[in-house]
Amino acid sequence: MQNRPLSGKTALVTGSTSGIGLGIAHSLAQAGANLVINGFGDRAAIDTLCQEIAQKHQVRIFYHGADLSHAEEINDLMIASSREFSGLDIVVNNAGIQHVAPIESFPPEKWDAILAINLTSAFHTTRLALPWMREQNWGRIVNVASVHGLVASAQKSAYVAAKHGLIGLTKTIALETAQSKITCNAICPGFVLTPLVQKQLDARAAQLDISDIEAKHSLLAEKQPSGNFVTPEQLGALTVFLCSEAAQEIRGAAWNMDGAWVAQ
Ligand code: NAD
Repeated sequence: MQNRPLSGKTALVTGSTSGIGLGIAHSLAQAGANLVINGFGDRAAIDTLCQEIAQKHQVRIFYHGADLSHAEEINDLMIASSREFSGLDIVVNNAGIQHVAPIESFPPEKWDAILAINLTSAFHTTRLALPWMREQNWGRIVNVASVHGLVASAQKSAYVAAKHGLIGLTKTIALETAQSKITCNAICPGFVLTPLVQKQLDARAAQLDISDIEAKHSLLAEKQPSGNFVTPEQLGALTVFLCSEAAQEIRGAAWNMDGAWVAQ
């Protein structure tokens, strides 16, 4: 196996049983990193997925099903991961959920869940991972924010607030680690065709009485000038780059990969 710059490193990717997290997990494993996989789904399917990644990339994989809306489960995830490997060198805070509704009818429990999963969980994983990273004087924290961490869209109050918060958290961590070989950056995808976006496409198709293809075209036309979805593989490659030695002095960045969404 050639070109495995992350060989010997261990990476936690939260929410990696699906979508972007799974794409990032594949890319990190391809670069040689052992993995802690986290997220929901059918346990047998997750076990098969872990075996496939482990075999394909010859890395060790550990799965933990922590619900990241509960601080004590995050604690358990971090302790179990450190027991399995000696510590976590790379933490990718990716898990996230969405809910779309005007603020007057936005369910308060959805607000709480979005803030907990999309923002607070990154605070907990980071505070628990940093002592080991500081001991090694090496670490990479990559927060999967969104273009919605940079600009807003109507009906996404909790998501936009959480993602703006995540970019703020990223900058603070970058400052607190600036004089070490630990870096913290955010990546800000535009639309990526994952189950999270498919739900929005289904709602749009039903509301406008249009096909799935038409819903895709109209969603992209509204926001993403390239007209293309960003892919999990592209985001995986960006994450591997941010984990590389070449990215050592990229600190506190909010790096958009969005088909020119925020260039407008
Ligand atoms: P997805 O629904 O495909 O995957 C979400 C993952 O998070 C799954 O593995 C799921 O099991 C896990 N998850 C959800 N709630 C959890 C919880 N309480 N505890 C642990 N794991 C949990 O979604 P995705 O589109 O791949 O989104 C991943 C991240 O990328 C999110 O943070 C999302 O906000 C962000 N993002 C997505 C897009 C997009 O267009 N899809 C764009 C920008 C940013």
